This record gives sequence, structure tokens and C-alpha cells, in this order.
Amino acid sequence: MQFMVFACSDSRVCPSHILDFQPGEAFMVRNIAAMVPPCDKTKYTGTGAALEYAVEHLKVEHILVIGHSSCGGIKGLMSIPDDGTTHSEFIEDWVKICDAARSKVKAEFGTLELAEQCSKCEREAVHVSLGNLMTYPFVKEAVEKNELTIKGGYYDFHTATFDLL
Ligand SMILES: [Zn+2]
Repeated sequence: MQFMVFACSDSRVCPSHILDFQPGEAFMVRNIAAMVPPCDKTKYTGTGAALEYAVEHLKVEHILVIGHSSCGGIKGLMSIPDDGTTHSEFIEDWVKICDAARSKVKAEFGTLELAEQCSKCEREAVHVSLGNLMTYPFVKEAVEKNELTIKGGYYDFHTATFDLL
């Protein structure tokens, strides 16, 4: 198999629809905001198992993380107050995986409207996920051996455009 794809659970951003993957072409993980958590053998076994299977068994050549416009998960992340208080059972703890993206956007673009900050964060979060991918030893090893590439993408469903970051 050539591709592994991380995409948001949002029904508007189906990777097969966006990139025209046919059955058998892409191994997919969809979750809130298309986030890749850091390697953690107790908290994030679902992601770790999918990555291990894709890299070690399917021998995928490319991992693609796709952020998207008007992402509710990213809006949730950007809406967490600076003191870090949360009100959900799971959602905010999940999206905090990309807290570094939130902090960066707040620091650089804190004066912009929330919607514009979210748009920046949708892209920044992809970069955090790409960094997190490298915390999985088998991903790092495959990348270093040039057997695997990791890439970020951004899909804007308002304009139906897809860009590699
Ligand atoms: Zn989303």
C-alpha cells in the first residue's frame, strides 16, 4: 500500500472524495481534527496500533496528515481559555495534543478574529502532528532509511482546493 492518511472525522472532508483514492490505495485514520498524538503506549494505543500496522506491515511509502477549513476540533482547541480549564469529558483533552499550535497562533496572531486564528491553527496543528509522527520509533527509522515520507496537506472545502503544506 502506498499511502496512510490522517484526516478529520468531519463528514465534509472524506479523503477518498478529496484525493480520489480507490479501494486498496490508502490506509486511513480519522479522528477529531486529524491529529497525530505523540507516541504513548497507554494513552494513544489506537493511533500507535494503526501506525505500526501501516508502517511495519503494509509498508506504506507516504503518510499524509490533512487539516481542513472550518474545523470544529481546531475551533475547540482555540477556544480553550489560557488557564487551561476544560468542560468536556474527552474532546478538549484530545485536541490539546496540538496545544503547541494554539500557543504559537495566540502568540503571533492573538489580535486577529477567532475565525482567522482558527484558520492559522488548522495549518499549524498539521505541523505539530508531523512532528509527533517522528516520536514513533518505527516511523523515524523508516523516514531515516528513505522508505517513508511524511507530508502535511490542507483542504479548503469552501473552495474545494487541496494544498500540500
Ligand atoms: Zn475537522
